[in-house]
Amino acid sequence: MDFKDYYKTLGVAKTATEKEIKTAYRKLARENHPDVHSGDKGAEKRFQEINEAYEVLSDSDNRKKYDQLGSQWRNAGARRGPGPGGGAGVEFDFSDLFGGAGGQQEAAGGFSSFFERFFGGAGRQQARGGPQQSQSQPEQPASVDVEVSLAEAYSGTTRQLEIASPQVCPQCRGAGVMGNGICPVCRGAGRQQGTRRLEVRIPPGVTQGSKVKAQGVTMVINIKPDPDYEIKGRDVIRKTVVDLYGAVLGTEVSFRTPSGKEVSLKVPAESQNGRSFRLSGHGLPAAAGKPAGDLYVKLEVSLPTKLTAREKELFEELARLR
Ligand SMILES: [Zn+2]
Repeated sequence: MDFKDYYKTLGVAKTATEKEIKTAYRKLARENHPDVHSGDKGAEKRFQEINEAYEVLSDSDNRKKYDQLGSQWRNAGARRGPGPGGGAGVEFDFSDLFGGAGGQQEAAGGFSSFFERFFGGAGRQQARGGPQQSQSQPEQPASVDVEVSLAEAYSGTTRQLEIASPQVCPQCRGAGVMGNGICPVCRGAGRQQGTRRLEVRIPPGVTQGSKVKAQGVTMVINIKPDPDYEIKGRDVIRKTVVDLYGAVLGTEVSFRTPSGKEVSLKVPAESQNGRSFRLSGHGLPAAAGKPAGDLYVKLEVSLPTKLTAREKELFEELARLR
């Protein structure tokens, strides 16, 4: 296994900027692209070397790791961890040092055994996205707004999401170039926008603005306005209508909470219009270490209309008594 001088492969200085590395890579990839030199094994190998160097140097984590390796790379490969008095104090992720191909020969798939040893993790997956495989590697965690009904916030629900996700361009395999020009499919980016579909679960007890993380996606919850309910945090407020006689003499009303649960409420005699009743724990359910909210029921008294002559007489009598 030989040390690979990736800077030399791309012909850039160790201090090269991301942009300089990209420019150098583009130029070399164009010059050595297999489509230009079909059947030329030397060009194919150079193309692979260029890709490998770019795979490492274009990724800031990999580049940092590679720069730290430097001339210590042999020692790094020989130790299983930063042992006592750990030498130059160089630290690596040793977990993937011994997990790869490990052989002295060039590894399969066009990457050197040096690459496989030190960078054979996530980088390899990305690099091997061939035309038939559609590898998707989100560059940053996606965030999507998800609207749920109040009932769904109570009971939990699932959603099918389509997340924009950059993928290796299937046309140029990430090189950004085809023949002597820029790849027409990705316009030189080497990546193109794809989508990945996932089904995600939203647990019971989300509130307005809740963030739910699932499968690398953050969902920001928006609870759809409900004509029958007002939502304040985990507390839920609704109205219930009783007639004059129920409000005056007392009654019992029953209704379903947004979770579908049937509850009944005793309205005491002489309850005023607008009086509020608290049903403890019947708001949005407990979640994320927060207790369940309460359900507030606000009384709305409806007055009788279209009184008969007899009714009117009785109301007049009531009024006189007062
Ligand atoms: Zn392309």
